[in-house]
Formats: sequence, structure tokens, C-alpha cells
Amino acid sequence: MIDPFGRRISYLRVSVTDRCDLRCVYCMAEDMTFLPKREVLTLEELDRLCGAFIGLGVEKIRLTGGEPLVRKNVIALFRSLGARIGAGGLKELTVTTNGTQLTHLAGDLHAAGVRRINVSLDTLDPAAFKAVTRWGDIGRTLDGIFAAKAAGLAIKINAVALKGVNEGEYDRMLAWCGEHGFDLCLIETMPMGEIGGDRTDQYLPLSLVRSRLREHWTLQETDYRTGGPARYYTVKETGRRIGFITPMTHNFCESCNRVRLTCTGTLYMCLGQDDAADFRALLRDPSVDDAALQDAIRAAIARKPKGHDFIIDRRHNRPSVGRHMSVTGG
Ligand code: SAM
Repeated sequence: MIDPFGRRISYLRVSVTDRCDLRCVYCMAEDMTFLPKREVLTLEELDRLCGAFIGLGVEKIRLTGGEPLVRKNVIALFRSLGARIGAGGLKELTVTTNGTQLTHLAGDLHAAGVRRINVSLDTLDPAAFKAVTRWGDIGRTLDGIFAAKAAGLAIKINAVALKGVNEGEYDRMLAWCGEHGFDLCLIETMPMGEIGGDRTDQYLPLSLVRSRLREHWTLQETDYRTGGPARYYTVKETGRRIGFITPMTHNFCESCNRVRLTCTGTLYMCLGQDDAADFRALLRDPSVDDAALQDAIRAAIARKPKGHDFIIDRRHNRPSVGRHMSVTGG
């Protein structure tokens, strides 16, 4: 699938639930209203739709959320998608998680064919972790991370850069990741959804973080890519990588290869725009076969916009898009 700007679309991110067991301050408001079950696609519907995308050339699928691993029986979806790796056309199946369920699910993920996972961990400080997640217990996430490592999964730690919250911790996190064999990826906070707070207070440009890190670490340029938006450097002192996702300071749209499906079957062609295509009605219409589903996917890709226009400043102190990251899936 080639979009109107000549970009090949080969990566599908699927938010399998809007629910989460944490409430990270930059992601959700404390009192979120979640979707009623009838609006959410069944695991079978998600599997069928993913199959249609794979048939059109999608090679990488990331399950996300909300927290994907809190969805009941989600491992069944991992298994059916994992069975498509290789001859089935899929090259990689992966997940972004907060890690709280990994102590019991890491082995199942590996058995389903997952080899790399992203775990979100914004801080190594237990009190700061509790404050960022509103009620999380860092011990549970750390246990999950080490269970995943023991199960043979490669781990990348994702941390959102938050001014005054984890700003002083990146050296320590880089050293910790190096010690345990994890890559680290820092993310600029994006203006998505009402969060009941002021984002200008949180926003920290990664250009600044990178130059501060360079005072203590040798960051060597690399052309390593995972198919996602991060730009990576090898950290000479640890041999691990650090990635930077910079939607605010460096627009990463020119190389965008992905689209995002929500758990209700809405396809967003851009994380930062509102245009979307609905697939739930099609999936639930018995007269719509897989060929018609694929025609609808092609028509949606033909509408993929050039890029987003996120802005965070005092004059634009409203989200650029109204939906939360947990809807579209980070
Ligand atoms: N629950 C899973 C997790 O914690 O990784 C998956 C979903 S979460 C929405 C995916 C990623 O999006 C997390 O790394 C999270 O930190 C990030 N995220 C959420 N809201 C964000 C925002 N407004 N700006 C930047 N990143 C955000």
C-alpha cells in the first residue's frame, strides 16, 4: 500500500482496549469514562481485520492500548497473529505495555512469536512512579520487566520526557538500561486529549535532553531503525542504544509508514489528525467479504494526510487532537 505522498504503509498499530490499570498524568485524566463492551471489536473481529491488512502488505503489527495485556484472553489474539509470522506475510508482532501483567504473560507472549517488547517506565524512583501513574507500584512493573527478560524477550524501555518529573534521571536510566541489556527510548510529550492539567508545564524538548546527555555519554549516530519513528544512537559506554521520538522538535512524518486502529474499529491514518475510517460497521455487515474490507482499507490509505501539526505553548494550551493517546494507542 502506497499513500498519496509515496510512503509505503507496512506497519499497523492496534489498540486492543481503551482501558488501563494505570492513569499516567500526561496520558489520561483521573476519571476516564471507558467504552461499553458492545462498541469494542471482539478478538475475532480484530484478528480478521489484521489479516486483511497483512494481505495488503502490512509486515509489522504492534498491539497497544490502553493497556493491551489487561484485555481478557488477549493472548488468543497474539497466538492467531503470531501464527501469521513468516509464510503468513507478517514479519514482526510486538506489544507496548506498562509491564504490570508481564510476570504471568511474558512466557505466553514469547510462545506466540513475540520477540521484542516496549515497556513504558518513566522513572526508576518509586515515589515519582506512583505520582506519574497516579497509583502504580513500580515493583510490579520491574518484576514484569525482569520476567520478560527471563522469557527471552528483548526489551526497550520507553520514557516520556517530563519537565521537573524525570528530568534529572536520564543518566541513571541510561546506566540502568545498559546494566540490564535494555535499549532506552525517550519520547516528547504530545498534546493529545484533555488531561486535567497544563501540558506546557510538562513539555521538555529532547534536543535539550540529548545535549545534556552528551556531557556524560558518547552517543554515536547509527542508522538502526525498528520501523517506528525513533532515531537511534549507540551509547559507547554501555553498547546499548538510545532512541529519541521527537514529534514536537522534529516532525517525523516524512518517513511515516504506519496507521492506527482503535479497539472500536476506527482507523486513524495519522496520530495527530482527526480524519478516520470506520471498519466496525463493515466487519459486522454479513454482506461485506474480505475483498470489500481490503477495498475499504485501500480507500482509507488514499486519504492519509501528510503529517500532524502538534503545538504546545501558552497560546495553544488545548490538545491538538481531542482523543487521548490511550484511544489511538501510543
Ligand atoms: N499501556 C501501554 C503502555 O503503558 O505502554 C500502552 C499504551 S500507552 C498509551 C503507549 C505509550 O504512549 C506509552 O509509552 C506512554 O507513555 C505514551 N504516551 C501516552 N500519552 C502520551 C502523550 N500525551 N505524549 C507522549 N507519549 C504519550
